[in-house]
Amino acid sequence: MLIKIGIDLGTANTTVYLPNKGIVLTEPTVVAVDDLTKKILAVGQEAKEMIGKTPGDIKIYRPLKEGVIADYKSTLAILKYFLDKTKAIKIFKPLLVVSVPAGISSTERKAVIDAALEAGAKEVYPIREPLLASLGADLPINSPTGQMIVNIGGGTTEIAVISLGGIVSWESIRIAGDKFDESIREYLRRKFNLAVGDRTAEMIKIQVGAALINKNHNLEMNVNGINILTGLPVTVKITSAHIVEALQRDLREIILGIKKVLANTPPELVADIMEKGIVLSGGGALLRNLDQLIYEQTGVATFVADDPLYCVARGTGKIIEKLDIYRRILISHK
Ligand code: ADP
Ligand code: MG
Repeated sequence: MLIKIGIDLGTANTTVYLPNKGIVLTEPTVVAVDDLTKKILAVGQEAKEMIGKTPGDIKIYRPLKEGVIADYKSTLAILKYFLDKTKAIKIFKPLLVVSVPAGISSTERKAVIDAALEAGAKEVYPIREPLLASLGADLPINSPTGQMIVNIGGGTTEIAVISLGGIVSWESIRIAGDKFDESIREYLRRKFNLAVGDRTAEMIKIQVGAALINKNHNLEMNVNGINILTGLPVTVKITSAHIVEALQRDLREIILGIKKVLANTPPELVADIMEKGIVLSGGGALLRNLDQLIYEQTGVATFVADDPLYCVARGTGKIIEKLDIYRRILISHK
């Protein structure tokens, strides 16, 4: 019997998909390591909860931070953790479909395969993220029509044009959710002398963040932090308009990337994209009004995929559930 498992190994979150069950597990791609003994202390949610709260000798790693496998040992620990937790490989070794960045090098690719085999897989197929994101967004990726997908994750934004089951043109930019958080931190420091942690910055982004202001979306919230001049705790009211300002430069870079990919795409396919629009996936796609900003800046209609955080995982799911239809993709990725 062949057990099949889909894993979205994201820079921020790892998600596991099982056939006929769907998404069974999603946790942060984080490991906590004892700096002295180099022992891995925790993985996933438990490790993320330690961020910013650990004593000096515990280090928190995001091994895929910029979309690459920076550290084999932690990648292995992550794969092991997720495979064990799904309890799917008690007896049979599974076939694994794993998402990897579009720009993965052959060495990184090999590292993913080796780590997956060492974690207990029988066969491993690393598939590039834009293809999986498009599949998960229900785009007809095997049709001879150009489709543009922009997947905004934690560490990277991958912009790609897909046609006939392959990637025609793409860009990967190291500006995504993590950088948004960092820009929010910098902005608050500059504008209000307010210091906040990474997790607070992310919370602000999610609660009031936006790419553009419209009348529905000028939200506000009170943020607790430290005044860097006095060293004292303070509370500052932060609005969507502040976050629009804080993220302006990052979003401009992403839009430049989209324009660059369009410029490198054959005209026939650009015509398809003009007609069908751009699809956004990944957690970053949830930033309010980002679709509207991209439309305004590129002139191409833009849509957020359903449940964008899980597009890539759903894409792995489609492949493992219909191996016969997608075998060509598996083989072309070998
Ligand atoms: P990856 O595939 O790299 O693991 P994800 O697609 O899981 O990344 O997206 C994670 C990113 O999405 C994080 O930076 C997170 O802060 C961001 N995110 C999640 N929800 C929202 C939201 N509602 N608004 C804006 N950003 C969000
Ligand atoms: Mg992802």
